[in-house]
Amino acid sequence: MRTLHIPLGERSYEIRIEQGLTGSQVERICEHIEPSAVTALISDENVWRLHGESFGSALKSAGVSFTEIVLPAGENTKRFPYLERVYKSLADMRMGRDGTIIAFGGGVIGDLAGFAAATWTRGVRYIQVPTSLLAQVDSSVGGKTAVDIEGGKNMVGAFYQPAFVAIDPDVESTLPIREIRAGMAEIIKCGAIASEKLFDKLRDFRLDKVHEDEFEDILYSGCKIKRNVVAADEHDKGVRLILNFGHTFGHALEAKYGFEKYNHGEAVAIGMRMASRMGESMGITQKGTAKAIDELLARYSLDIREDASSLLPFIKSDKKSEKGGVKLVLLTQIGQTEIFFISYEELESRLAELDSTWQ
Ligand code: NAD
Repeated sequence: MRTLHIPLGERSYEIRIEQGLTGSQVERICEHIEPSAVTALISDENVWRLHGESFGSALKSAGVSFTEIVLPAGENTKRFPYLERVYKSLADMRMGRDGTIIAFGGGVIGDLAGFAAATWTRGVRYIQVPTSLLAQVDSSVGGKTAVDIEGGKNMVGAFYQPAFVAIDPDVESTLPIREIRAGMAEIIKCGAIASEKLFDKLRDFRLDKVHEDEFEDILYSGCKIKRNVVAADEHDKGVRLILNFGHTFGHALEAKYGFEKYNHGEAVAIGMRMASRMGESMGITQKGTAKAIDELLARYSLDIREDASSLLPFIKSDKKSEKGGVKLVLLTQIGQTEIFFISYEELESRLAELDSTWQ
């Protein structure tokens, strides 16, 4: 069992990593629930089918009575019609300001349920119980909540910290391998931006060991890196940008393919390959870094290659883009970053260069 404290003053909270959503883990969840108030548990159909009964009965045995809201799985659920459905259910349950929302699912459920919690009666408590690797290591930590609109992913959202995050690495036993790889991409990113030690550890790790104790350490290290960055910049005004390594290109790729071809982790993996190559050719990233990233990604079948030039219009319309250019997160070496403003003119030629030199 491992715990991590997120020091954010009044909004501080704990992340607890422990195998099994039973016993002491459920007891700790219950400490954050007002027993006499309404509790809603939001999940998706896959997670509920696989884990709903066991988690639900553990909560009930611990004395929590709740109503579940089970939504379809997939990114399309992170939209206003489903948010409205959630609000309607909360109204039917008569949830007041003393209520609690439990988000039980991947990043889609975490972001949607978190946004519902941030806005229902101007804010109710919420607890994250992330079930995908990506959600455990990334989206459940840091308090970003959001829904997508036609004009863009995560365009409407709020910074709203959970009261508690309960991570059970065992739930990943049912996670499809493609989703495990997507989570590994974010852990690789954590190593690349902040910890050569984690990066090296991942070189020796194998995906078939994902259910062993060793993996709990890797999960903990990834969450700790995100915790450190979030604690230093809760509202994404400075250093938090480093978490975006690979994401400028990754988000553009997701948008280019209408969020169909690649999942978030795969897109970020391609983005990291692009950013490390570009950094080397700009003289910012130490030579050999792109090769090290390629080799590590290949270990997790994430060494995907994509055309770079076609991404420019999607980069320009990303919400993080600025007038005339974009801030790129580049590595100076494994474990260290530099934020570099690049104009769209220069970016256009760098993307073309990337396409012509990437063997
Ligand atoms: P997801 O929630 O769609 O989950 C991926 C798939 O795995 C779904 O089909 C889901 O049903 C299934 N699944 C989840 N847990 C499972 C389990 N234990 N067993 C079997 N199947 C399971 O997507 P995701 O990859 O978890 O998260 C992506 C979302 O997270 C995106 O919307 C992205 O914008 C968001 N995100 C948010 C942040 C943040 O800081 N808030 C950070 C990164 C990503």
